[in-house]
Amino acid sequence: MSLHRLLIAVMIGPELARWKAGGHAPVFWWRDDDARRPTPALDRLLALSLRFEAPITLAAVPDGDIAALAKACRAVPGAELAVHGFRHENRAPPGWPSGEVNDLDRLADVMSELSTAIEVFRRARVTPRLFVPPWNNAHPTLKQALGLRGLSLSCYGDMRDQAEPDRLDAHLDVMRWKPEPRFRGAVRFLLRTRRLLAERRSKRAWDEPLGLLTHHLDHDEEAWRFLEAFLPVARPVARTAIGKPAVKTAATSRPVAARAG
Ligand SMILES: [Zn+2]
Repeated sequence: MSLHRLLIAVMIGPELARWKAGGHAPVFWWRDDDARRPTPALDRLLALSLRFEAPITLAAVPDGDIAALAKACRAVPGAELAVHGFRHENRAPPGWPSGEVNDLDRLADVMSELSTAIEVFRRARVTPRLFVPPWNNAHPTLKQALGLRGLSLSCYGDMRDQAEPDRLDAHLDVMRWKPEPRFRGAVRFLLRTRRLLAERRSKRAWDEPLGLLTHHLDHDEEAWRFLEAFLPVARPVARTAIGKPAVKTAATSRPVAARAG
């Protein structure tokens, strides 16, 4: 047994057994960010998706080759594209949180940017359903625009906020980003996984999804190997298979510092 498999069994095995004893299984889903065009790393990612029958949502930047990405996704069951920002460009004035939308932007302009982004996907015969803002910057003006265009929002967090049912976050980043991108480490990753699983169990939020987050262009070999061990345990489902259940007890949304973008 590989070290990763052993750590997974020891660190989250008992928690998964508690779920199973109650007749439940956690709902994992899988999002990968920053795709712009097919690359060897993307091939490797999609091969994992195929091998483990793990559907993936690829958050792609509209200035890339969306048609080529859409073609690559069509060869993989359950693979789909999400919109990852407008240009993945930080437009924040100095001292403001990084992001593409800020307090100075008017709704009409954000709507126009969003329409342009959606149109790029439509030309590739993709109707996007999910928007992933770079730097997790869910600015209120952006949220308003997404609502008007009927797109769901996906950031990085702990639990779904009750006030935001139309939101599907990622929660478990395999990478750490400072001082440079590398695998988060199995122990760190699994401690967080165990905590988020236990929170959902104690709140009886059995259907509250847990989003695995990857960035295929930044993975080191350790990150790839860990994914190979984790995917068959997590058994992610397609985004389209996830309902929008209300969390029954009050859940606080705690934003978590994720990667820069
Ligand atoms: Zn990004």
